[in-house]
Amino acid sequence: MKRIIYVGFDQLNSKYGALKGADPKSDLVVLVESARMVTGSNWNKVRLYFLISSAHHFAAELTQAGFTVVYQKAATTVDGLAEVKKKHGDLPIIAATPNSFRLSKALSDFGVTFIENDFFLTPKELFNSWAQGQKSYLMENFYRSQRQRLNILVESGKPVGGAWNFDKENRSPLPKGYKFPPYLEHKPDEIDVEVAKQLGIKPNTTWATSRAGAKKVLKNFLDNHFESFGPYEDAMSSENWALHHSLLSPYLNNGLLHPSEVVDAALKRFEKGDIPIASAEGFIRQIIGWREYVNGMYWYLGEDYKELNHLNGNRKLLPLFTDPGKTKMNCIKTTVTDINERGWVAHIPRLMLLSNLALITGTNPQEFLQWMREVFIDAADWVMVPNVIGMGVHADNGVMMTKPYAAGGAYISKMSNYCKGCFYDPKLRTGETACPFTTLYWDFLDRNVEEFKGNHRMAQQLFGIGRLKDMPEVRKRAKEVLAGLDSGLI
Ligand SMILES: Cc1cc2nc3c(=O)[nH]c(=O)nc-3n(C[C@H](O)[C@H](O)[C@H](O)COP(=O)(O)OP(=O)(O)OC[C@H]3O[C@@H](n4cnc5c(N)ncnc54)[C@H](O)[C@@H]3O)c2cc1C
Ligand code: SF4
Repeated sequence: MKRIIYVGFDQLNSKYGALKGADPKSDLVVLVESARMVTGSNWNKVRLYFLISSAHHFAAELTQAGFTVVYQKAATTVDGLAEVKKKHGDLPIIAATPNSFRLSKALSDFGVTFIENDFFLTPKELFNSWAQGQKSYLMENFYRSQRQRLNILVESGKPVGGAWNFDKENRSPLPKGYKFPPYLEHKPDEIDVEVAKQLGIKPNTTWATSRAGAKKVLKNFLDNHFESFGPYEDAMSSENWALHHSLLSPYLNNGLLHPSEVVDAALKRFEKGDIPIASAEGFIRQIIGWREYVNGMYWYLGEDYKELNHLNGNRKLLPLFTDPGKTKMNCIKTTVTDINERGWVAHIPRLMLLSNLALITGTNPQEFLQWMREVFIDAADWVMVPNVIGMGVHADNGVMMTKPYAAGGAYISKMSNYCKGCFYDPKLRTGETACPFTTLYWDFLDRNVEEFKGNHRMAQQLFGIGRLKDMPEVRKRAKEVLAGLDSGLI
């Protein structure tokens, strides 16, 4: 063997990264399962199951293709690579540039040579030059430049359908009695069973753990959900945990699927003519817009960005995040229970329920970020840090988003059916049964009037407080709500 190719658990693809052009005769492929990754935090076991089983499947596929593969367990990635070097000789190590600041530094210090990380559609230099030319980093501007650069849904320089963005058509709540196609289940194989046994859980049937399985999820989305993806993108329901979302983030993030093949498949399906433009554009925007933008911003904003706490959130993580039994709030109880079961909920519950609650309760952003990192199946530093610190809790003073995503119970009640089965009433802001979101939303604005008064996008919300006659009672109730949330009784 002439070299070691290190493959991260988030780079499981033989056509991209360090494996592109690899030679089974001279390349030793190494995957490292680090104790840091398995026992270093309070990880959701569903997440571990998915990541570890996917890595084992990938190693088995490479072995079948003729590669010599070492699956090394060690305290850290670097320890694992050192162990392999001890056994196989002091070979040079190559790897695709890792997806986090931390691992990039650790591997670089160990002498690993990096080759281009092509698991995204936008090279870092290209993103940086876009960002450097902007006054504010509006995703929409980046997205339009992506549409043109990649020539996607563009004809003669103009957007297909007559508009760049159909976001306004992506905000419908579900109609009553709306029926969804059945969920796709994945039958566990021997590898899955073994991994689940080691983790002390039952094999999971929600998530595929191989490339073949991931391709089935993509096909299922295009066949059964793509058409209605657009209108119900922001809806939430206690009756269906997935709605029309693609469920592709885990596979895009661990390398089993590449964004270019997802976009190509979606465009091909759109060309058949029966997918509304609001759905096609809405989905493409998530992949070539949001996903690439978030990755670009992670690197552009630097390593210290994750420590920002502009609004001085110092509340400890609320007990309801780790134990859904610690709240009577139906929306949060259902969401946290879903996360415990599958490691996944859609974008709007992440933003308008979990992050919104952390924001308006003044929860410490870093404690909240750590919890989000631990529980989600698709979590990784590059994607969680900008989404939580920037979009979720406004801890960056508006670098990414011009205004905080704070909302009361009225929004949640409009976009979901959670409030119907809840102890609390979304319309009330004071009293025993006042919705905690509603009370705390007004209290948050009240606490931050000075902070936001120069922000014209907040003008309407701040004007609303001025009209509230019962603000003293709201402040009093907010104190009770915060104390109740801290003790797990609200
Ligand atoms: C606070 C917060 C935390 C988030 N944490 C993560 C995370 O750890 N990992 C993650 O992959 N996504 C994260 N997201 C983005 C988004 O919620 C998930 O990508 C999405 O819910 C995954 O489900 P899906 O594949 O069915 O997505 P769909 O709704 O079907 O969207 C398609 C794809 O678009 C991409 N996408 C859309 N929005 C974003 C975004 N804001 N950032 C990055 N990619 C995006 C994803 O790859 C997703 O698979 C977060 C969003 C918020 C608000
Ligand atoms: S009333 Fe408030 S707490 Fe209850 S489900 Fe609705 S938004 Fe959530």
